[in-house]
Amino acid sequence: MTHDLLLGNQQLLDRLDALLAQDRLPHCFLISGPVGSGKKPLSRLICAAYLCTAPQGRPCLHCPQCRKVLSGTHPDVVVVDQPDKQTVPVALVRQACADAYIRPNEGARKIYLFPRAHDLNPQGQNTLLKILEEPPAYGVFLLLTDNPDRILPTVRSRCATLSLSPLPVTTILGELQRRFPQADPSACRTAAEQSGGFLGPAITALQATPSTSHTTSFGAVYAARDRLALLQLTTGLERLSHEQLQDTLQQWLELLCAALRSRAGIPSGSEADAIARSHTEQELSEGIDTLRCALEYCHFYVSAGHIMGMLAARLSPPHRGR
Ligand SMILES: [Zn+2]
Repeated sequence: MTHDLLLGNQQLLDRLDALLAQDRLPHCFLISGPVGSGKKPLSRLICAAYLCTAPQGRPCLHCPQCRKVLSGTHPDVVVVDQPDKQTVPVALVRQACADAYIRPNEGARKIYLFPRAHDLNPQGQNTLLKILEEPPAYGVFLLLTDNPDRILPTVRSRCATLSLSPLPVTTILGELQRRFPQADPSACRTAAEQSGGFLGPAITALQATPSTSHTTSFGAVYAARDRLALLQLTTGLERLSHEQLQDTLQQWLELLCAALRSRAGIPSGSEADAIARSHTEQELSEGIDTLRCALEYCHFYVSAGHIMGMLAARLSPPHRGR
């Protein structure tokens, strides 16, 4: 199966290929992974694999069926969601289940895609369960989730589970550089290191620049316990817009949390590891509390100048030997 659409996860794609070659693709998949891990591209590949009309090498991604799947216009791929609602309405699930007994329009299969299956309440999931237990021969159900624990065990047991895996930092970094050739290399590296191995969060982090570069500076200054440089950095940020300030503080908070994880022995990226080496757990916890407090101030529209002044004073532990 092609992996241009989905980064990494070769083992998972090979498994799908083997099932496809034997014509044994299950009728229900639970596709799980965090936000930005590739659940949607994977579900598109699976839809195309089911509907592709190429004699071999399915999905070919070129035939009319594949092209309609990729452009989101295939009449036999039905997305079951109402994004403005917190929970996927039960009525919508019922409607999809009833519709599933009407034969496909033009494809060999009719596919129902649930982009946030964990947001189906138990009633919705039980409604879905009935059709999963006795699906029409052409029916396929793809349940996407970033929280598989919220899927009822009875529903889970009906599905083949596909879990997306985190990728090596180098893979993420390579993809960021390919997609954003103009981006600052150190910002790309930081985004890749903080991504947890998933492309979506890496892109979000990279696009948060210029605050990303402020975070790189903060990481270096904080790791060095350099009070003067911290004061200069915070003074320089007093003119940030309210939104930029919140983004920046959130990134600083995430960096210190990563440093705390690093102290617990979990590698968390070179910046976080450097901070972990120069700070005690208590200092990091106090730093995290200070940043949380600053973020709370943001909600009350305290000025950036006041917040940065508070940070300069409270985030500067006395210099000590390594
Ligand atoms: Zn095709």
